[in-house]
Amino acid sequence: MGLCQSLGFCLRRSHSHEIPISSSSESSPRPSHPFPKTTPQHFNPSSSKGTSSSGIGTILLKPYVDVTTIYDLDKELGRGQFGITYLCTEKATGRKYACKSISRRKLSTDRDIEDVRREISIMQHLTGQPNIVEFKGAYEDRQNVHLVMELCSGGELFDRIIAKGSYSERQAASICRQVVNVVNACHFMGVMHRDLKPENFLLVSKDEISPIKATDFGLSVFIEEGRTYKDLVGSAYYVAPEVLNRKYGKEIDVWSAGVILYILLSGVPPFWGGAKDLIRKMLARDPKKRITAAQALEHPWLKEGGDASDKPIDSAVLSRLKQFRVMNKLKKLALKVIAESLSTEEEIKGLQQMFKNIDTDGSGTITLGELRDGLARLGSKLTETEIKQLMDAADVDNSGTIDYIEFITATMHRHRLEREENIVKAFQFFDKDNSGFITRDELRQAMTQYGMGDEATIDEVIEDVDTDKDGRINYEEFVAMMKRGTHDGDGNWQRQMNS
Ligand code: ADP
Ligand code: MG
Repeated sequence: MGLCQSLGFCLRRSHSHEIPISSSSESSPRPSHPFPKTTPQHFNPSSSKGTSSSGIGTILLKPYVDVTTIYDLDKELGRGQFGITYLCTEKATGRKYACKSISRRKLSTDRDIEDVRREISIMQHLTGQPNIVEFKGAYEDRQNVHLVMELCSGGELFDRIIAKGSYSERQAASICRQVVNVVNACHFMGVMHRDLKPENFLLVSKDEISPIKATDFGLSVFIEEGRTYKDLVGSAYYVAPEVLNRKYGKEIDVWSAGVILYILLSGVPPFWGGAKDLIRKMLARDPKKRITAAQALEHPWLKEGGDASDKPIDSAVLSRLKQFRVMNKLKKLALKVIAESLSTEEEIKGLQQMFKNIDTDGSGTITLGELRDGLARLGSKLTETEIKQLMDAADVDNSGTIDYIEFITATMHRHRLEREENIVKAFQFFDKDNSGFITRDELRQAMTQYGMGDEATIDEVIEDVDTDKDGRINYEEFVAMMKRGTHDGDGNWQRQMNS
């Protein structure tokens, strides 16, 4: 099958670079653009119609906050289907962010509301990943829902490319690697993006070598393993053929990334060699035969000239699991106590779904086999020993399997678990008599409750945490332990991981 043929209709218009498509339907005054701007389609006949949100007080299920007390909103940066994005400055720090404001008036159906909530959950879930915009917070006032995130001040990816005039195959590979990195990170984290296109990639700064970041997760969903998706979503030119047949899975993102790569290179003479092979594999019509994001990152063309910093990085979840390994037992237990109290919150929806995807028999616990298969499915290349080590680490109560709370504990965003109020709660859990100290007895009591109360472990913990050597743990010592980086202390995690 010829390449052009496999590209189908998607590229026919993107190809004519010199003809800007004047899309009258676009409300934003954009400069004429050699690549047609596309509007995402989200059409679902089964969606509830016209249901008002009156039953629910607020969209974020939190009280209103006047964002202007926290941020100064500045000029408009851009707008899309739902939102207008503004430059904003955090008053307390002077730091600049982007604030995507979505008018509550536009969120008229339950489905719209669900979509915004999902967009926020997904951004929270993916924050910290390479090439994905960092999420700061969500706020709601009477008029708008505001999503505050990292500012990308370098503009849209393709505007930059055009302004630049020409670029090398190597630079194209570097851009493409970042795009595929996004797909890989999303898929590893259990998210299907569904709307990958150049407009949704922004440059962090105006710098020559600025990294690019994916910003818009408005059409993304959490992947439920084994489910076939039917929603007709995506944008013309980039949409995979199976979406139109309404039967698809995460492979659609690889297709869209392949189209982006094709566009990126088709304007670059001399024509590229190895890239062709990669594009062909990314644009395989049969999703089952299509290359995965993890495999694409290993493709010689993408790897070519790549130095260490471009290597696919472990997913955040995996590196959190690895860090969890070397924590002392008290910290693990404290995190477990915290995770337990947070386990119903919206923000961990993504991890919840990941747990379900790995726990294939639905037993509520992850066995070594399930962990091995789950990580392999997600494209991880850990050795058997490493997987065993992760298993042991996450299995706080030594039951031989990882239960739901243990999984959340080991993989949850550290800064969430380490928020002051959570640390206070955990300290109070251990300090049963409220004396301001965790005594040896209290420690034994709590640890026994979780099946880890042997004297050697208790000695080890006190030795490690009790820095003033009075035989008990005060709040400051506890906080210091909770906030301690994972690279110091016994400092051996790197060594262990490499052995
Ligand atoms: P929509 O979901 O309505 O398409 P987007 O999230 O794509 O909204 O944002 C619309 C536009 O706002 C983008 O095309 C971009 O120009 C600008 N924008 C979005 N996020 C940022 C950001 N983090 N930094 C700078 N500009 C942004
Ligand atoms: Mg957009």
